Formats: sequence, structure tokens, C-alpha cells
Amino acid sequence: MSKIQMKNAIAELDGDEMTRVLWAVIKEKLLDPYIDLKTEYYDLGLKNRDDSDDKITYEAANAIKRLGVGVKCATITSNAARVKEYNLKQLTPSPNGIIRSELDGTVFRTPIFVKNVHCNVSSWKKPIILGRHAYGDVYKNCEIKTPCKGKAELVFTGEDGTEIRKTIMDMKGPGIIQGIHNLDSSIESFARCCFTYALDQKVPVWFGAKDTISKTYDGNFKEIFQRVFDAEYKTKFEQAGIEYFYTLIDDAVARIMKCEGGLMWACKNYDGDVMSDMVASACGSLAMMTSVLVSPDGCYEYEASHGTVQKHYYRYQKGEKTSTNPVALIFAWTGALAKRGEIDGTKDLVDFAKKLEKATLSTIEDGIMTGDLARLADPAPAKVLNSWEFIDEIASRL
Ligand code: NAP
Ligand code: MG
Repeated sequence: MSKIQMKNAIAELDGDEMTRVLWAVIKEKLLDPYIDLKTEYYDLGLKNRDDSDDKITYEAANAIKRLGVGVKCATITSNAARVKEYNLKQLTPSPNGIIRSELDGTVFRTPIFVKNVHCNVSSWKKPIILGRHAYGDVYKNCEIKTPCKGKAELVFTGEDGTEIRKTIMDMKGPGIIQGIHNLDSSIESFARCCFTYALDQKVPVWFGAKDTISKTYDGNFKEIFQRVFDAEYKTKFEQAGIEYFYTLIDDAVARIMKCEGGLMWACKNYDGDVMSDMVASACGSLAMMTSVLVSPDGCYEYEASHGTVQKHYYRYQKGEKTSTNPVALIFAWTGALAKRGEIDGTKDLVDFAKKLEKATLSTIEDGIMTGDLARLADPAPAKVLNSWEFIDEIASRL
């Protein structure tokens, strides 16, 4: 059998711990035998990021911008414990934060449904696509722990010399303050990314924020969404028979729990971070969710939304073959390959990606799965396998 050829490369961003282990197995068993894989490889393993003072992460982000498509493994965001564990020079910032900020994108996350794993929220019949703004807010914050009584102020110094100054608080004692920001241009592209993706998927868009409390900051999000919608999407939405509506974030949460799904929920950065984990775990497992970062100029980075599955990795290091679910990692690859094929006009690459997704889902629907899903499966699973056996089952169907 001759292998499928790729016209252009994709940026491949390797990561850490259990996901790094599975990344290699997926390539060996499910991709290399069928595709002449063309990738630009960036090792975003923690030690390598630290050694390069994060230069490698910026290079990888640039490669995604240049090539248009990237695929990323999960990576450790360092903390004090990791500095000790990996003997790091410094606390490095979140690589996802760096890449999202470089691409100024929106992250779309969609649960992966299978027939025999039922959603904990019984009203959800169709996937909820979460559109997470991936720029600014608390992820690019500036914080101070204030040591004593004093006045906290917010100061803006304009390029043209204007100064705006406001008192945050006359603080009666030590405390904490935080400054966050966003840019109109980024919010506009967030809105466009959401509306474009929703049109493509033919689903309505809900957007929730807290403009009653945050009249200027969240109010600006609300206004920009409405302005972009009215000017550029209203007619297209009417033609597609879908709608856009804004509501308060707490009302959005209440409605989401009662809806039947089949919609895009646009969320500000923090809301999207938290709510995507809720949606994913309600739908079975953190590993049953796709995640793609879309930049306003049409670059795509596919990833798993879960982390490096640290606890499983420590068991793996002791010799255990863990039952870690590789589905989100597989779908990161299929998403990237299908997008590469779509952009390059290589239909066999797109077809291959669809076949690999089908082989993965049909394995689970045949009752063969990893431990995380076994607890939820109805009927009870026929076989609960470790990751390696599970990937072999997928390969045999493929
Ligand atoms: P995690 O890797 O998402 O895992 C948390 C727990 O969720 C696991 O212990 C496991 O539960 C379950 N789980 C997650 N993915 C699974 C899978 N594929 N199959 C089966 N179970 C799965 O989060 P974490 O352990 O809190 O974080 C580990 C590291 O990941 C951290 O250093 C963090 O910085 C990093 N992180 C990276 C990303 C990213 O790169 N996108 C995102 C989040 C976190 P059980 O133990 O109950 O089996
Ligand atoms: Mg999260």
C-alpha cells in the first residue's frame, strides 16, 4: 500500500508526561503506517522550554502562523513544585497562554458523543460548542500584593499625552490588586471567529457576560458583539435560520443546563476555561472533547483540552500500563490532518482523518474502551483496556 502524501507540513508541538508517551504511540500505530507525515517538529517538553527561555514556544507559534495548521500535545505549566521536579531555571509562563496570545485566537471545544456513553445532563442531546476567547483578561494580568494601608489607582497614559486616572480603593490595610485588559481588535476578532464558526456549523450563538456589574469592561464585549453581528452577520444568520443572542452569564449558565444542545456558547476567556471542563466532564470525560484554536486570519491549532495526566504518568514510570484515554489526542491529529487536506485540496488526507475518527468511535461503541469511560458506559463495557491495547483495537479497525 502506498502512503498518503502531504503537500504541506503541519507544525507539530510535542509536550509532557503521559500525553507525550501516548503522542508517540499514536504516531507509530495510527499515522506513520498510512501517511508520509510531513511535520515541523517543536519539542515543547518542559525542560526544553526552560532551556530555551521559551524561545521554542514562540518559534512554534510562528510556525503555526506560517504553515496555517498546527497540532499540539498537552504541556506542563510550571509551578514551584515543577521547578524542583525538573530542576528549572525559572517559572515559565503557560505555553498555551503564549501561543493563544501570539495567534490572538478563539478556542472552540466540542464534546465527542458516542452512543454508549450517556451525558450526565439528560437534556443535552446535541453537542454544545464552547467558543472561548483566548486573549487577555486574567490570563494577561498584572497583580500586586499591597503591603500596607494606601490608595490603589488605575492610570492610563495615552500615546497622545492624555491621562486617565481613577481610584480603585482607599485601602484600609494590606491587600491585593489586579489589573486586566483587553483590546477592541481582539474582541472584534473573537466575535467574528464565533459567528463564522457558527455559520459553518449551522448553530445559533449564545454569548454571556456580566455587563450589569462590569458596565464598561463586559459592557464593551456586549456592544462589540452586537455591532459586529448587525453589520456583518445578521442577514447571513437569517438566511441560515439561526440566531444570536446575548444574555447575562448567570442566565446563560442556567439556560445551558436545561437546553438540548446544538449551539455555540461564546465565553470570555475565564468563563470558557471553567465551563469547557464542566461541559466535557458532564459529557463523560475530559478526553472526550475536541479543541481547536482559530486565529482571525485563519490559522488553526488542534489540541487536547485536558492536561498531561500527571498521576497516570507517575504510575507509568513505575511500570504500569495505564488506561489513559487517547481520544482527544487522536482527534487533535485528525482535526489537523483534515484541515491540512482541506486547505491543500488533498482529499485522501481528509478521508483518512474521517476514517481514523470513525475507527476510534466505533471501537468505543463496540464496548471496547479505557477506564474513564467504563464507569459511564451503558451497556457495561465488553472490554476495559490499557491505552496501548485500546490503540491497537483502533488500528485493527482502521
Ligand atoms: P489533567 O492532566 O487534565 O488530569 C486531571 C485528571 O483528569 C486526571 O488525573 C484523570 O483523572 C483525568 N483525566 C484527564 N485526562 C484524561 C485522559 N486522557 N484519560 C483519562 N483520564 C484523564 O490535569 P492535571 O493532572 O491537573 O494537570 C497535569 C498537568 O497538565 C499540569 O502540569 C498542568 O499544568 C497541565 N495542563 C496542561 C493543559 C494543556 O496543555 N492543554 C491543560 C490543563 C493542564 P483520574 O486521576 O481520576 O484518572
Ligand atoms: Mg481549564
